[in-house]
Amino acid sequence: MKKIEKAKLCKVAKTGLTKKNISSYAALVKDASFVCKSCGRTAASKKQLCSPKAIDDLIAEK
Ligand SMILES: [Zn+2]
Repeated sequence: MKKIEKAKLCKVAKTGLTKKNISSYAALVKDASFVCKSCGRTAASKKQLCSPKAIDDLIAEK
């Protein structure tokens, strides 16, 4: 099985891998600093989103 630590969480969620790896997934989103502009998912690492944006930047732009 593909390690979700190295995958885009946007894709992981669509394939249903989240359910099988919910504790790993939780660890990856716990300290989320990035949000996906395309689908709204969050992650601690921007490498794990298809269209990442820094949450702090977005709040500052408000
Ligand atoms: Zn996405």
